[in-house]
Amino acid sequence: MLMVVKSGGPAAMPEWRSLYRSLLPELEIVGWDDPELDPARVEYAMVWEPTPGRLAQFPALRVILSSAAGVDHITRDPSVPAHLPIVRMVTPETGERMADFVTACAYAIVRDFPALRDAQTARRWDESLVGRRASETTVAILGLGNLGVACALRLAANGFRVRGWSRTPKQIAQCESFAGDDGLHACVANADIVVNLLPDTAATRNLIDRRFLAALPRGASLINVGRAPQVDIQAVVASLDSGHLHSAFLDVFDSEPLTPNDPLWQHPKLWLSSHIASAVSRESKARQVVKAILADQAGQALEHVYAADFGY
Ligand code: NAP
Repeated sequence: MLMVVKSGGPAAMPEWRSLYRSLLPELEIVGWDDPELDPARVEYAMVWEPTPGRLAQFPALRVILSSAAGVDHITRDPSVPAHLPIVRMVTPETGERMADFVTACAYAIVRDFPALRDAQTARRWDESLVGRRASETTVAILGLGNLGVACALRLAANGFRVRGWSRTPKQIAQCESFAGDDGLHACVANADIVVNLLPDTAATRNLIDRRFLAALPRGASLINVGRAPQVDIQAVVASLDSGHLHSAFLDVFDSEPLTPNDPLWQHPKLWLSSHIASAVSRESKARQVVKAILADQAGQALEHVYAADFGY
């Protein structure tokens, strides 16, 4: 069995080899750019942003294993053979890490950490910066999948009032559920914080635009940990500049890495991170991949398979 790996670049290959050697010794690992790679022998491909056209050149390929939870970085290549299952990277660590990050952002917003930092920079003792309580803060989560639910449960456990929006209705303890196009407005109305955790599909692209932002209450904040194409970034900046949006946390960008001269870095009301909201360990990823390969070899159904009909 041979798997080609494109995840983390050549520097990550020794760690991938060592992990897979210990987890599944019969699995041979080859780097994406390895000159020894024989395309005819590739049965599995674990990839992040595969070079367009390459996956179609592996005639024995059985399963594509995304190195990330989203698969947009694979499906945007129209030459990827439609019959091949694409497995999303969903590990036990993924939801936990995303819930950590989103909850941290939510607290930074309710206790207004930017204002605390400003006061410190100005050496100003300011007893007015008391923020507000989690229990008087409504968080609307767009996308109630693996990650959205993990965030909803954690935020609710921390006392936030939680709502969520998904394509199909959900029943989640302590999370008011809204579904379908009609449910979106009701979900975000009066939300203090909107968390985007939708997959990048034709239906979700540019969802968070000027009109969407204008419909949020003044002083609301946005946390985008889904994908960049869902958010009109110029509309976010305009809303921050006008004082309508309080702050925005952005973890994902149209072009990554964000270049040092990008003006977004300098915006005082933006908090940027480098697509790390739920960066899971290589060990956790390797375990998940091995699980999928063993299921495939045993002829069992694969979990977390991309559904082309819905685009995620
Ligand atoms: P998931 O389990 O597939 O869940 C997706 C959710 O979005 C589901 O609740 C789905 O509704 C909902 N949805 C999809 N299309 C919709 C539409 N048109 N209208 C309303 N709801 C819609 O995905 P996940 O594992 O939670 O991951 C979500 C996304 O997070 C990924 O696709 C990726 O883009 C992003 N992500 C980011 C990071 C990071 O570090 N920043 C890490 C991992 C993932 P149903 O429940 O009805 O199907």
